[in-house]
Amino acid sequence: MDMLQKLTGPELSLSCEYFPPRNPSGWSALYATLATAHETGLDFVSVTYGAGGSTRQKTISLVERIQNELNIDTIAHLTCAGHSRAELQAILSELQATGIPAVMALRGDPPRGSHDFVQYPDGFRYASELIDFIRRQYDFKIGCACYPEGHPESANVQQDIEYLKLKQECGADFAVTQLFFDNDTFFRFRDAARRAGVTIPIIAGLMPVTAVSQLTRFQSLCGCAIPFKLTDFLQGEANEDVVERGIAYGLKQAEELLEGGVEGIHLYTLNQSRSSTAIIAGLRANGRLTP
Ligand SMILES: Cc1cc2nc3c(=O)[nH]c(=O)nc-3n(C[C@H](O)[C@H](O)[C@H](O)COP(=O)(O)OP(=O)(O)OC[C@H]3O[C@@H](n4cnc5c(N)ncnc54)[C@H](O)[C@@H]3O)c2cc1C
Repeated sequence: MDMLQKLTGPELSLSCEYFPPRNPSGWSALYATLATAHETGLDFVSVTYGAGGSTRQKTISLVERIQNELNIDTIAHLTCAGHSRAELQAILSELQATGIPAVMALRGDPPRGSHDFVQYPDGFRYASELIDFIRRQYDFKIGCACYPEGHPESANVQQDIEYLKLKQECGADFAVTQLFFDNDTFFRFRDAARRAGVTIPIIAGLMPVTAVSQLTRFQSLCGCAIPFKLTDFLQGEANEDVVERGIAYGLKQAEELLEGGVEGIHLYTLNQSRSSTAIIAGLRANGRLTP
């Protein structure tokens, strides 16, 4: 079954996200993590693209290795930020030549310390333009980002949904959400997107918490709400117990999402295998996934 069939068929898709490490020890640790992930039977993995194009070669070599050596379908993230059209074309052609089946087409964030995204000379302003550019020239499956709690620059969620629909019209095959901790927010967003005519699969992005200090960082980085039931659940726990509780919370979130008919679960791993592996094992043990 190819990646898109899995994404659009009745079976849940299961995936994990990694980033290119900064130093050699990070790379060897990541290969060990990926080997463990492979054993869990993931449908695909995705590899992020550093802000402003900073990980161009690292992202390309990592996706190539995962795709061709581990034989896991791999999605290469790519951003408008930091690239002209000619550079984007060169990167896309390199990804195509290495057999990568899918690209996550993103705008990228404004430079650190700035609120305004700056379009690169002869580059793109919005992810929808990059999606259109890819769709016209390449055969990749195309993913895009979406935001159950609204993108930080958007006036409201409904406006964001209109731009998600535009990304679908430009050629996006599936969407992956920003991380969230409250499933009701996801279901409200998904139902509103469906009413607005968004028909592509909306994959839920979950981040298992591994330290209490992460919560305020996530909140300031992506604007996600931290529900009281989560802070209360982690309250006063020693570090090791926070990891276990983060797994339990993530597993419960995933199970509820499955009950609500979610099309896929994408785990933000921060390059660690323990929590994502435990959540996938938990879903299998509870009969939520086919073995
Ligand atoms: C699943 C996921 C993976 C990500 N991976 C990466 C990564 O690897 N590297 C990275 O640098 N960043 C990544 N990001 C972050 C992303 O780049 C930022 O959130 C960025 O600020 C927006 O990207 P986008 O693709 O959603 O942009 P867009 O869809 O272009 O939206 C950006 C803003 O513009 C608005 N907008 C969109 N279209 C229009 C229009 N036509 N007219 C007016 N306004 C419009 C939107 O409402 C939104 O406020 C990821 C985010 C998610 C959710």
